[in-house]
Amino acid sequence: MAEKFNVVEEFGIDVFNEETMKQRLPKNVFKALKKTIAEGKELDSSISDVVASAMKDWAIEKGATHYTHWFQPMTGITAEKHDSFISPMGDGTVIMEFSGKELIKGEPDASSFPSGGLRATFEARGYTAWDPTSYAFVKEGSLYIPTAFYSYSGEALDKKTPLLRSMDVVSAQALRILRLFGNETTKRVVATVGAEQEYFLVDRDTYNKRKDLIFTGRTLFGAPAPKGQELEDHYFGSIKARVADYMRDLDEHLWKLGISSKTKHNEVAPAQHENAPIFAPANLATDQNQLTMELMKKLALEHNMVCLLHEKPFAGINGSGKHDNWSLSTDDGQNLLDPGKSPMENAQFLTFLAAIIKAVDEYADLLRLSVASPGNDHRLGANEAPPAIISIFLGEELEAVVEALVEGKNYTSAGGTMFNVGVSSLPDFPKDTTDRNRTSPFAFTGNKFEFRMVGSNLNIGGPNTILNTIVANSLKEFADELEGVSDFNTSLHDLLVKTIKEHKRVIFNGNGYGDEWKKEAEERGLPNFNSTVDVLPCLTEPKNVELFTKFGVYSEVELHSRKEILLENYSKTINIEALTAADMAKTEILPAAMRFGKDICDIAASKKSVGIEPVVEMATATKVNDLTAALSEKATQLSDAILKAQAITEAESMARAYHDDVFALMQSLRAVADELETIVGEEYWPYPTYDELLFNV
Ligand code: ADP
Ligand code: MG
Repeated sequence: MAEKFNVVEEFGIDVFNEETMKQRLPKNVFKALKKTIAEGKELDSSISDVVASAMKDWAIEKGATHYTHWFQPMTGITAEKHDSFISPMGDGTVIMEFSGKELIKGEPDASSFPSGGLRATFEARGYTAWDPTSYAFVKEGSLYIPTAFYSYSGEALDKKTPLLRSMDVVSAQALRILRLFGNETTKRVVATVGAEQEYFLVDRDTYNKRKDLIFTGRTLFGAPAPKGQELEDHYFGSIKARVADYMRDLDEHLWKLGISSKTKHNEVAPAQHENAPIFAPANLATDQNQLTMELMKKLALEHNMVCLLHEKPFAGINGSGKHDNWSLSTDDGQNLLDPGKSPMENAQFLTFLAAIIKAVDEYADLLRLSVASPGNDHRLGANEAPPAIISIFLGEELEAVVEALVEGKNYTSAGGTMFNVGVSSLPDFPKDTTDRNRTSPFAFTGNKFEFRMVGSNLNIGGPNTILNTIVANSLKEFADELEGVSDFNTSLHDLLVKTIKEHKRVIFNGNGYGDEWKKEAEERGLPNFNSTVDVLPCLTEPKNVELFTKFGVYSEVELHSRKEILLENYSKTINIEALTAADMAKTEILPAAMRFGKDICDIAASKKSVGIEPVVEMATATKVNDLTAALSEKATQLSDAILKAQAITEAESMARAYHDDVFALMQSLRAVADELETIVGEEYWPYPTYDELLFNV
């Protein structure tokens, strides 16, 4: 029996958080550091030595011997390089040292991280800089320092830097709006994020028998199991002992790292689960989600399971997403997406709401792009995940408010009150928790928006950078228009009505899964990007370059490099999948089918020799023969297509070829193999089937 875990005592025990700082730092240093953190400023070099030394002492007490600048390169996962605190004294002895300089800045040899040609043109060096708004922590004998990663000439090489920039940008513009509403006290507005993480658990030994899972994280073949998710008996079902043990272990690890893991439950698909933390500032939430994913994978192995974070590990079974709950909050804790009670609060809420509606409509392409990945292509647009079309769900009450506003009518509800922006107040509208539209990609859920298109494997830095920036842009336009007007209420009212009129096409409360929506969305002029390759080129469109450069979130060079990296990543991913699929088909599935075919023919021959007509054997053998021929042909075609795609030099054409030719052939190869699986005897089949994968944990 494991020792009892005291959550209250152990929570955040491995984090150099505010409480620890307060205990460990001289008062003036603590105050200076806190100010730096609260205002999102750079750390003054005069206090960094003191902070570093206190951090080191604390980390050593926790058993650390090393420190690492921890960063989030464009690979989507985190990177770390560990240095020990050891410093030789020259007499054969050592002391443990850690300077302010080492805390603030690092220089990892970063030439092997994807940069989309960025560093090549300058020099191969990359730097990391401490992000003091995200706490340092101790894990496995090292002090981890969350950092941003950038090139010699200052271009961001990671997912973190643009996120931090976008948080500053949205804060600055939101503050301008708050001032208009008479708020003079708030110093910073923080984008808050809570990411609900879905994942699959499979048995480790079963996993190890499939090359596709090992190399690509998803099954490239597999006929459906007789039982799928149709009974809906897994969703919120009781958690099996082995999984429960794992979840408890995971929680304890997360809590020690100060990650407030709050909710855990079974998901819709068999073997699928979810973990959700309490929300945090966007950068911290991003760090925490990266850590959560890492721990999920690592701890699963200790429980003899494998955690699959791929967006679509199994065909025909729900994929995994990551609902990105997003809001804006003042440094004194006011949630700006909470409708509030007073007329002024309501008007302020409607202003932020209108800004978001406008942002989502104007930059739907960027939002779609921010969640594009080869894995997520299997979800978006398929009939189980939010559609690839971006739309906003407001809920009945709020949509009625918005409608009334546009039509210049008073809003009445069961609650009773009338409505006029800035003058009278909104009736209390119920926080809609039951009648949630689960088919909407971007839903208002009472006091936050839930962006549901994010893939389970994705670094949430990207989507939140986009959200912050596009909303900042609307807020800036609003502030530009409203600052200095003589009659604020009237000007605001007119602006809101105009904005909502212009952008209400993006509001949709109906069923996002239906084919009718696709048609209607097209009529409304809403974009529908079906795949990653379709949407990636949007990144460098003039309107988007203008947006990002205006706010300094991405430079034009950074945008081009990112597009390049994402296209390359697409090609590389499909290349690995295709090579694996061709290999499995040729060296495992084909021989298995042939062995089975031969045995059937042997039986047929012996039956015939004693005068029995081998009807079933002949039919089966013929079918197997036809399918093996088809499989062999498709596998050859696939190998040829891979070679052709590999030979292309331009990134976009290459990704296109991988999508249109290679991926398409993988699909048809799979169809043949999956049909064979239903015919070939189970003892011949070279891999564990979906039954074994989905139902034996
Ligand atoms: P559900 O969406 O299932 O109703 P909750 O409302 O509790 O669940 O929240 C889901 C996620 O949204 C959690 O991670 C939660 O912390 C987060 N969340 C709640 N409020 C906010 C907010 N103001 N900003 C960002 N995330 C939030
Ligand atoms: Mg939710």
